[in-house]
Amino acid sequence: LENHEDKIDYVFKVVVIGDSAVGKTQLLSRFTKNEFCLDSKSTIGVEFQTRTVTIKGKVVKAQIWDTAGQERYRAVTSAYYRGALGAMIVYDITKRPTFDHVARWVEELRAHADNSIVITLIGNKADLMDQRAVSTEDAVEFAEDQGLFFFETSALSGENVEKAFLRLLEEIYGVIS
Ligand code: GDP
Repeated sequence: LENHEDKIDYVFKVVVIGDSAVGKTQLLSRFTKNEFCLDSKSTIGVEFQTRTVTIKGKVVKAQIWDTAGQERYRAVTSAYYRGALGAMIVYDITKRPTFDHVARWVEELRAHADNSIVITLIGNKADLMDQRAVSTEDAVEFAEDQGLFFFETSALSGENVEKAFLRLLEEIYGVIS
């Protein structure tokens, strides 16, 4: 049940953050358009994409924001976080440093976003199992410690992408209703 543009009950702003090249843009495109672009990027400036879903009988428009490359210049501003009800912190399971930086992204959220923001940790590129550099156990432990939801996803295959976004939106609904 989608496309009830005429009667939106809620708009949920969700921000997607994490190091450069972890797959943020592709996750967004997988969830909002069910697409994966083999040669994306270069276009800086698209701010958000939307998808409308039904949660507990309510029509919810998810407005999902992409950093559009700002993270490369450490220029993610507080305006980006303003009004965000949910956040996804993404790392790449094949690149250990992107996981080591997650703590910094959590701090960034705690500093700039609302206290009640719902945070999901995403280990992306789960299709690249043979290049894994971050164990599921390490990520689960970190997520539990910080009170984050956690999913391993693949924007390429689509694995768990829908599940992760819907879970986040349901949790936000639980917080605001
Ligand atoms: P961003 O900088 O975090 O927005 O990352 P992008 O979405 O631009 O993705 C960076 C690179 O990783 C691109 O070459 C993507 O094609 C690739 N990529 C993104 N998600 C996946 C995934 O789930 N699996 C694989 N194998 N590659 C991915």
